[in-house]
Amino acid sequence: MSETDTVNANVERHEFGAEVGRLLDLVVHALYSDREIFLRELVANAADATDRRRFEALTNEALALPADAKIRIAPDKDAKTLTISDSGIGMSKEDLAKNLGTIARSGTRAFSQAIGDAKPAEGAEDKRPSLIGQFGVGFYSAFMVADRVTVTSRQAGTDDAWRWASDGQGSYTIEKADRDQPGTDIVLNLKDDAGEYLESYRLDHVVKKWADNIAVPIAIVGEEG
Ligand code: ADP
Ligand code: MG
Repeated sequence: MSETDTVNANVERHEFGAEVGRLLDLVVHALYSDREIFLRELVANAADATDRRRFEALTNEALALPADAKIRIAPDKDAKTLTISDSGIGMSKEDLAKNLGTIARSGTRAFSQAIGDAKPAEGAEDKRPSLIGQFGVGFYSAFMVADRVTVTSRQAGTDDAWRWASDGQGSYTIEKADRDQPGTDIVLNLKDDAGEYLESYRLDHVVKKWADNIAVPIAIVGEEG
């Protein structure tokens, strides 16, 4: 069976590696009680991408960040989506497949072991949330709250945008997309039991708790629609 097949002329479907499948299962089930940290992970990625673009712009002024560059967190109650957007370095088609479709850095076994070892005793502090960031599985924490994740990205310095989408169930698709400016949008179709992340006050609380040290401005925009 080939790893890649074509859904139609414009949409490619790729299977996740077995390791990603096991990892998704662990992240979604082992850390259910700590799932608000998905926002910390996505905001951290948006901040990293913004910093990278700022750094690249030092030697290539065509990549300069817009003056008002910020991380935007936008809930939409009608659509039941939460969108995290940045004006960062963005991802090419190859970056999307490599960064979001494979585990570049860490093995599932090490993560699984650490999660098991870190299970807190009754009443003790739960150190498991920090393991997600530590093992570099941050992006996949989105599937704790979302049953579908869509990433639209345009790499700074290019005109092409691409869309990556997955329900976290074994495969993802990639297709051509549009984006006016370089950067990335992550759209989470929230699970039925994750409606709390459509509430601005809840998002505000999570951002203050977990993303207080982020140097890029963060805007939680009013509910749209
Ligand atoms: P880590 O941040 O530890 O590398 P993640 O799972 O959080 O691991 O992210 C995987 C990779 O996906 C990142 O290293 C980065 O290359 C890419 N990525 C994720 N989010 C973004 C984003 N908003 N903009 C650009 N690249 C991103
Ligand atoms: Mg990360």
